[in-house]
Amino acid sequence: MSLSNGTHYLAIPGPSVSPEEVLRSMHRTAPNIYTGALHDMVDTIIPDLKRVARTRHEVAMYIANGHGVWEAAVTNTLSRGDKVLCLATGRFGEGWGALAANLGIEVEMMDFGRRAPVDLAAVQARLAQDDAHAIKAVLVVQVDTATSVRNDIAGLRAAMDAAGHPALLMSDNIACLGCDAFEMDDWGVDVMITGSQKGLMVPPGMAFVYYSPKADAARETADLVTPYWDWRPRSHAQVFYQYFFGTAPTHHLHGLRTALDMIHEEGIEAVWARHAGLASAVWAAVDAWGAGGAMELNIADPAMRSHAVTAVRLGAPDGKRLQDWVSANAGVTLGIGLGMETEEDPDCTGFFRIGHMGHVNVQMVMGCLGAIDTGLKALDIPHGSGALEAASAALAAASRG
Ligand SMILES: *Cc1c(COP(=O)(O)O)cnc(C)c1O
Repeated sequence: MSLSNGTHYLAIPGPSVSPEEVLRSMHRTAPNIYTGALHDMVDTIIPDLKRVARTRHEVAMYIANGHGVWEAAVTNTLSRGDKVLCLATGRFGEGWGALAANLGIEVEMMDFGRRAPVDLAAVQARLAQDDAHAIKAVLVVQVDTATSVRNDIAGLRAAMDAAGHPALLMSDNIACLGCDAFEMDDWGVDVMITGSQKGLMVPPGMAFVYYSPKADAARETADLVTPYWDWRPRSHAQVFYQYFFGTAPTHHLHGLRTALDMIHEEGIEAVWARHAGLASAVWAAVDAWGAGGAMELNIADPAMRSHAVTAVRLGAPDGKRLQDWVSANAGVTLGIGLGMETEEDPDCTGFFRIGHMGHVNVQMVMGCLGAIDTGLKALDIPHGSGALEAASAALAAASRG
């Protein structure tokens, strides 16, 4: 018997839940794109996008998903044959490096596996060897959505500086901007990319490239720049159509305006703290389940875990069985295992992920954890007890600050 009716909760790590306010603000007929309110609104969006990333540098907007700005970041800064160092901590770091290689970049991969962050000392040592400064950029993912590892971007900047290396620091924050703390200027990030559909709570379809003056200087000589992806006219539009090199994403802009209002009303630091508190409940629950079964957080060190997404190991095929059960019976869709293939488990059926990014609160997280707890029991998957107690205790502690 299915117990599922009511509102289905999509607890995958993107696209995330869009607030009703965001969706309602998109529900309108198309505005005039040539003059008037839309133009005024875009002028207000740009400074607010910069506030979310804690930067005074530039931001270019695209009608794209995350893959689009992976490409924009590379093509605006590099030339065919240039070398980059790509730091992989999961599927997404690998994907960005593969895309760069397909553009004719020489990509040196440093792979830190599936369960660990970037080893900063190893990166520093590698850069220190590069006397000729052949490496033009270091590509890193702040939060790899596949493994839920959170890399130390400030530490990476310090490692690059300690090696005396002038490479650009380019960070993929698609999963975590507006969830995990990020300070573009204080941390010395040259290029940061993100998308609309995760922490920013807007449906997929817009993406953003932030860039420093140093990155813009690299744009001067980059031979991969193309008219459509060029960030300059998009961030310094002389006429409105240059912002998007064509028709603006009118409805997404309305949604984004509303989402940015919500973020700034809450306050970005409060947004980060809320994500940390909600993540602590997920971790407490998984630890409790794991005390009596195979379940385990993919990233052991809490300091290296994202507050936006949690990857969980459960053993094949129980990860998939649990996803299927909660989807069919409990009104919750969990994230699939991604990039965790092994010979014994080629389809990653031993994993699941929980997205807790953006428009998320206590009842959503507790509801999701309650659905998982029910599924474990219904499927007779061995697990420890007290997960929901542990989660609510973590949330109560977080609420006291
Ligand atoms: C979601 C995500 C991407 C890919 O974004 P798409 O919109 O699916 O192209 C890239 N990197 C990270 C870290 C992500 O979380």
